[in-house]
This record gives sequence, C-alpha cells and structure tokens, in this order.
Amino acid sequence: MIGADNIMRFKDLFEKINNPVQLEAEMNNAAYPYLEELRHHGVDNLEECKYFLLCLDKLYQLGRISPLRDPEYDEALDIYLDAGGEMIRGDMSSGDKAVHVYPSLKGTIKKVHYISEEERKKRSNVPTHKSLEQWLQSVRTELLDNGYKPGEIELGLYTKYDGLSLILEVENGKIKSAITRGDKDLGMGQNKSKLFRRINFEGFDFAKKFGLKCEALVSYENFKKYNKKFGNGELVDPRSAATAILNSDNPALEELTYLTLMPLMIIVDGVEYPIPNKHIDPFPWAEEFQYGARVRVDLNHLKGSIVAVEETIKFLTDEIKEHLAYPADGIVIRIEDPEIKSILGRNEAECINNWERAYKFPPETKKSKVVDIVQEIGSMGKLSFVAVVKPVTMKNKVIQRVSLGSLARFMELNLAPDDEVLVQYDIIPYLTVDSTCKRSGNKPFEYLKVCPDCGEPLMFFPELGCMNPNCPSRIIGKISNYCSKMNIYGVADGIITTLYHKGILNRISDLYKLEDNYEKMLEIEGFGKKKANNIIEAVNKVDSVDPYTLLGSMGIQSAGRRMFQRILKKIPFGDLIEFTVDDVPKLCNIEGIKFKTARKIVEGLMENRKELERILKYVKLNSNDKKYKMTVCFTKVRNHKFEEFLDKMGIKSTDTFTKDVDMLIAAPGVTKSSKIDKAAKWGIPIMSINEAYVHFGYSEY
Ligand SMILES: [Zn+2]
Repeated sequence: MIGADNIMRFKDLFEKINNPVQLEAEMNNAAYPYLEELRHHGVDNLEECKYFLLCLDKLYQLGRISPLRDPEYDEALDIYLDAGGEMIRGDMSSGDKAVHVYPSLKGTIKKVHYISEEERKKRSNVPTHKSLEQWLQSVRTELLDNGYKPGEIELGLYTKYDGLSLILEVENGKIKSAITRGDKDLGMGQNKSKLFRRINFEGFDFAKKFGLKCEALVSYENFKKYNKKFGNGELVDPRSAATAILNSDNPALEELTYLTLMPLMIIVDGVEYPIPNKHIDPFPWAEEFQYGARVRVDLNHLKGSIVAVEETIKFLTDEIKEHLAYPADGIVIRIEDPEIKSILGRNEAECINNWERAYKFPPETKKSKVVDIVQEIGSMGKLSFVAVVKPVTMKNKVIQRVSLGSLARFMELNLAPDDEVLVQYDIIPYLTVDSTCKRSGNKPFEYLKVCPDCGEPLMFFPELGCMNPNCPSRIIGKISNYCSKMNIYGVADGIITTLYHKGILNRISDLYKLEDNYEKMLEIEGFGKKKANNIIEAVNKVDSVDPYTLLGSMGIQSAGRRMFQRILKKIPFGDLIEFTVDDVPKLCNIEGIKFKTARKIVEGLMENRKELERILKYVKLNSNDKKYKMTVCFTKVRNHKFEEFLDKMGIKSTDTFTKDVDMLIAAPGVTKSSKIDKAAKWGIPIMSINEAYVHFGYSEY
C-alpha cells in the first residue's frame, strides 16, 4: 500500500487530530479535491463522507475557518444525505450553547488568498480562492449601488494572531462570561475564574458594560517552557498550548501565567470603541501591541494602488515573522471609514463583517520535479495516484512522495516526467502547479487501463478501479480494511501482503486459521516465533464485537458501521444476512436509505454471506440486549481490570456522564471536574475509586 502512510482518511483526522491548526491545514488540502470527487462520482464510502463533514463541523466548532464556503458545505451535505447519510449538524454541538450579549463581536473573518488579481491568476489552483483586489472591486460596486461616490479610502492592516478567540462580557470591571468561538461558555462560576480574576480592567473605565473580543495567546518563549513542563514536549505549537490551558477542566494557577490576552475589538452599546492604547498592568494583557499599518487605495484605480498594499503587507509579514513574540498566521485588512463600514454592514446569518477580510500567509512551498507517478489499487479496488518527486526538505522532513488523490486531479494536473511542480508541506504534502512551473515537454503520464495486479481491465464503478473480486490488491485491501475497522492492532499491511503471497491469507476468515499455519509462518523470512505469536494474539484478542461493527468491517460499498447500526435497529442480524435482491424494498423503508444504496448493501451482503458465516465461527457477536443492573461512570481515572470485574457483576462502565448513570467514580483526591459538578447537581452519588473497590468487593488492585 504505497502512499498509505501519506493518506490519512477523514475518520482518522476526525478522531486523532485535536489540534485545530493541524486539522485546518489537513482540511485545507483535502476539502476541494474531495468535494470535486463528490460532485463527479457521488459518495463512494458513506462513512468517509460523514467524517469529511464532521471534520468541517469540528473546525467550525473549534473556531477555525472552514476551507469550504457555506453553500459548498451545504452542497456536500446534500450529496451525503442523498446517498442515505444521516443528518450531521448538531451531533457535535454541546446542546447548551452560550447566548451572545454582544453578537457583533461574534464570527469569523472571510479569507482572501491573494493580494492582486495578477498574483491570483498566476498562482490560483482553487477557483473559489479570491484576491483582495477582487474584494475591493466588489466594495466599489456596492458603494456605487448605494449612491456613494467611491474614491480614495484608508485600509487598516493588523496582525492576525493565531490563538483562541474569546469574547468577554464585562460589567462593573468584572467578567460576566467568557465565550469561545465555538460558542462554548467557559463557565465563570468554576475554575476558569482563576484565569479571569487576574484581568485588571483599569483603563477600561469608559463604560460600565462592554463586550471585548480578544485572542488568547501563548508566546513562543512561554510555549517552550510550557511544553517542557506541562506538555511532555509533545505540543506542536503555541496555539495548541493555549487550547490545552483554556480547555483544561482545572488548570493549575501556574499554567495560567503562560497565557496572554490580546484585546482586538470593543463594543459599547452596539458601537465599536477604540481599544485603549496603553499597556495594562498587571498581566495577562499582552505587553506588546499589534504590528499594524495604514495604507490608502483609490477604488477607482485599483490596479495601481494595490501595489502599495502588496508592499505594505510584505513589509508587515517580514516584521511579524522576524520580531513578533506571538504566533500570527496572516493580516487582517479593515476598511476604517465609519460611513463606508455602515454601508457595507454585516452579514448576520454568517456572522461576517463585510468591511474586513483576512489574508492568510501562504504555506511553505518549494519547487521540485516529477520523477514518476505510481498507480496502485487501494483497499476498495480504487486506483490511486502518488507522485514521486525529487526530494525536497521542508520542516526538517524529506519529502518525495505526494498523494494526488483522485483520477480527476491526476487528469487536471496532466503531469509529465521532469515537469516542475510546487510542493506544499504543512502536515501532509500537497502538490500544485502554477504558471512559474516549467513543463518538460515530455509525454504526460497516462492512467492505467488494466489492473497492475491482476491484468483485468479497469472500470468506473463509479471511480476508476479494479472490479475483479479475486484481484490480489483487492483481497489484501479488504483484509487490511477489516483489521482496521475491527480494531485488530498489530497486523500491518506489510504482514497481510506477505501472508497473502505465501498463500496463507486468501480471505478475511483465514486470519482465524493462522494457528493452523504456524509452522508455515515460521518459514517466512523475518518471521520469528515472537512475531507469529503476536499476530495470532492480535487477531484472537478481538473475539467479540457488536454486530454492526462486524458488518461495517466487511468492506461493503456505501455501508459502514453507523449505517449497519441504523439498519440493525429495524432488522434483526439473522434476517439481514439472509437478504436477497427481493428484500431491497425492506431496506428502503428505513429513513434515509434510497433504493440505489439499499441495492448496493444487499448485493454486498450476498457477496459476503459465506465469508461472514466462516468468521462467525470465531467471532462472537455482542448481544444488544445484555441487561445491566446499574451503570457507573468514571472521571479522571480508569481501571480496565476493575471494569471487567464490574461487567461480570452486571455493572456497566462508561465514560459518558448522563442522568442515567447510577454512580460516579473519581480519581483519589479529585474533588472538582465537570462530571462531579453535574453529579452534585443531579444528586448522583460520588465515590473515590478506592472506596468503590471496597464497595464492590474488588481486591486485586
Ligand atoms: Zn485487479
């Protein structure tokens, strides 16, 4: 599976990446290519599509800028729902969203990716990426439409800090609430008040009540210290440190001293108020104010005056990168004239001020040359493309393989050997071409017409791939997909490939016959007793799963575990796996499943029935109706041995705290957590884990 290490699927992104910056970078690279795939080929894998949308939602929740515009998100959501997906929005939201007293402070700033039109035309590879010049052009039109004669205007340029946005509601010098971009109220009544008590509002005596938007930041210098002391050196950047501090349930007082707040905007009685231009002591206001500048442009002669903007932004960028003690990721450009601001107004629905835009610093880019394009059959039989380029070093990493994703992108790039390309690298390498890239004039690469593994002609289904169910790469991919979906750890793709070629693994169920092939495994080069035992143990360990997990692991198109979870609520497992084409309408009765999807699922089940029967000899299905006599929830502590013990006693353990929980078990000495607060409120008994051991008669700790 070449390139598999490069391709993190959306589910992985969603579950594994909690750093908002990293997630944003990933989605910036992946969103448009995936949307294109959806537009042209529909939903290939419903589960993937769901996680694609969830990733975008998560970005929004975390207060980052989604790479897709709202209409584009809606388009993707429609395609997903049409394919039988379940509604996404709301799944992620906490349910109790904060109410904004100062709604005009809320929202995001629309992005521009280029300054001048000239630059955009030269570099753009995403049609929806706009330039500042385009925006100013539309401002001019808007002003003319409103009977205002456009002329010279002043633009304010400000540092776009890369921290966490916070809106503070202040009354009589005290903070009433602190709301994050995801509309989460940090809860002033609790431990966060430690942080906010430190803020001194002297110098903010212009009003009794006001709203203040600010950015919570950790300086580069503080980040180093914080990461060493509190982050095990594992935090990636200052922003993730700020996230860690603000999201911590009960941050140590010392942790808070690493955090700084940067005031950005003040609203008094619905009107913007200038930020007091003085240092406010003591901590935690940032001791250093924004790098900013002003520049005039003539709306009637944009071509000429945009040069001045370009130069100023370049100067500011250099200053910021060289001298600023805090992380920044771009420049905010605002129109300063109050009259023009009021004409342009604000888009309340999208929470966007029409009089400002954010220019984001472009990601690091280096030139390289194409050596080859590797084409392989992936797990679902789909043909994938990986460009091999002359090695470039970026962020201390040597990059020479860049995944191109879909056939559509391969065709669009139309690369030939020795063509110059641009490699972008933030988290995952991305390849683009612009007009500065020299073409070699060589014959472009062509996509494969027959399968590299079995020789069968490739077909569109709807994506180009190998349809032969006996194709080696499809079988290997199917087994690999099964292991990952079943959470069988320790059976890597390389092992599956080797065992396949040795004739030991020919289908999924062969995983459960590895013990019979033990001697054969030992004969393979590089396989010792330890390795063979580990593989067998890894497989045998997962000996019982939920029925929907098993079905969702079979690699049936359009149907992952969530889909089967929904189906199994209506149709018993035993009935479902006996379905024939005549039963398709029964699936269509389930809300959200359309005929096409239903047919694919039934066909997939029929194809996999024999294999399922073989697997079921080794894997037990968890019965859904196991009755527990009580449920306990844990906070800040887990002990799996103890949980197994409880399970045997008919007591369910969970991490999710709801009103259905009968008892909360806390780490020794822990008296504060959001779960403990809720338990107190709901009158649910709380015990320390040591007390719980005694209470339930558990003695093996
Ligand atoms: Zn094939």
